[in-house]
Amino acid sequence: MKNENIYLGSHVGLSAPDFYLGSVKEALSYGANTFMFYTGAPQNSFRKPLSELKIQEGRKLIHESGIDESKLIVHAPYIINAANFSRPDLYEMSINTIVSELRRTAGFGAKILVLHPGSHVGMGAENGIVALAKALDLAFSTDGTDVKIAIETMSGKGHEIGITFEQVRAIIDKCEHKDRLGVCLDTCHINDAGYDIKNDLDGVIELFDKVIGLDRLLVVHVNDTKNPIGAHKDRHENIGYGYLGFDVLNRVVHHPRLEGIPMILETPYINEKAPYKQEIEMLRSGIYKDNWRD
Ligand code: FE
Ligand code: FE
Ligand code: ZN
Repeated sequence: MKNENIYLGSHVGLSAPDFYLGSVKEALSYGANTFMFYTGAPQNSFRKPLSELKIQEGRKLIHESGIDESKLIVHAPYIINAANFSRPDLYEMSINTIVSELRRTAGFGAKILVLHPGSHVGMGAENGIVALAKALDLAFSTDGTDVKIAIETMSGKGHEIGITFEQVRAIIDKCEHKDRLGVCLDTCHINDAGYDIKNDLDGVIELFDKVIGLDRLLVVHVNDTKNPIGAHKDRHENIGYGYLGFDVLNRVVHHPRLEGIPMILETPYINEKAPYKQEIEMLRSGIYKDNWRD
């Protein structure tokens, strides 16, 4: 196999008793050389102080095992919605949570925070984009870090914004601190949003480059999807068991234009067991094992 520059890992936990040290051990147990984590529960913004999370111990293991810390990914909690300002209290809470997550990301020594662009909740995508860009600028002017936010491409459920490359581009265009903005491309989400990576991966990557610019691409979420193109559902599936299939996702991982970009699996657990060791092995080697889930 040729010596490619591939950073492949998965979502990992951050839980007692080992916290960050446990996250790093979990990633290494999957054969990963990068990973993504939430700095607390994904559904809320209650957060343990960084001093309790065994960050030094985790970072020591990261450095010993040769993981490139600049490729690690933090995911912001889902409760943030800065794409709607009809409720000033919620809008302000979202901005405060973004600031605190940026600082926590820096506290782990990480450089990239993935953020869902949110839902306009009836005010229309254009207003949603304005609201989000304003919130990002407020956060970037107060957080005091150099952490970048990667806006995740969404599948188009409900009132989500950030469904098309043009919308993501519009968010970046409206933000003053463009140097701190990038994009997270999720293969399940863009399929569900209507981009045909199954039949025309090169064309979709070229379109992304034209509309947004590949230099903005900071992370790829590698997921199969339970639904056909354009379904607007967002239901992840294990690699090879969904509509996209192994060959397409394998081409994503090994695509020369995506070289060096961290690739993160967020596929479902199987009977309470993480599938990531097997999925990483198959995607790294390029060799699929039929019925690997059985
Ligand atoms: Fe996400
Ligand atoms: Fe994702
Ligand atoms: Zn998703």
